Amino acid sequence: MTVIYPSPIFGPVHSRRLGVSLGINLLPADGKLCSFDCIYCECGFNADHRPKLPMPTREEVREALEAKLKGMQADGPAPDVLTFAGNGEPTLHPHFPEIIVDTLELRDKYFPQAKVSVLSNATMITKPEIRMALAKVDNNILKLDTIDMNYIYLTDRPVGKYSVEDIIGNMQTFEGNCIVQTMFMKGTYEGKDVNNTTDDYVIPWLEQVKEIAPRQVMIYTIDRETPAHGLMKATHEELDRIGELLREAGIPCSVSY
Ligand code: SF4
Repeated sequence: MTVIYPSPIFGPVHSRRLGVSLGINLLPADGKLCSFDCIYCECGFNADHRPKLPMPTREEVREALEAKLKGMQADGPAPDVLTFAGNGEPTLHPHFPEIIVDTLELRDKYFPQAKVSVLSNATMITKPEIRMALAKVDNNILKLDTIDMNYIYLTDRPVGKYSVEDIIGNMQTFEGNCIVQTMFMKGTYEGKDVNNTTDDYVIPWLEQVKEIAPRQVMIYTIDRETPAHGLMKATHEELDRIGELLREAGIPCSVSY
């Protein structure tokens, strides 16, 4: 079962890790739009969920968010976090920077203690206006599954031009004001091994993560059904081992099994 979220607001979703999280989905309500096409994406493959509807406008997002926050102020629950996520890559929205400004204003007005998080695949951080917008949020969470371009083409499957060196270089410009998120998994896809938990992948990735020096790394594994068959979860032991390597390098890390 793939998940296509309502747009522009969904939830709140209660999770042990994030608490009460209100979702902001800047992608169309009837499909998926992403600059990656990950074989493990909970929204499915891009080709199977092409949207017909447009993205919500800046005004629609602001109005829907304000109405929802007013309702939550009146009836609860108070959100712990406002999370940009949903049917694809939020920074693809042409007014992403302005929407971040609106969201921070609304957060300050209704729930000043709530955090604003963005879950991004980092493909757009080569653009200065996207970096500037991401630098303003509380949790700037950027995907880096590996630094191996072959593995990236096999599993994350960038839709356009992609250079992992450029992305890493741009991640460094946040000067620690970012969180790296990395998916570890095993199994096979199209007859090829997709295990990125072994040292051939982990050690070069770790070296680059040290260069990025994020304030935290979130490592996780497959949690839901995936569009590709043959993928497997990384084990607790494999994830814990990687978490330990990060902590030894002085980088705080959270592990979700
Ligand atoms: S980056 Fe996220 S939304 Fe995009 S394809 Fe990958 S998992 Fe799905």
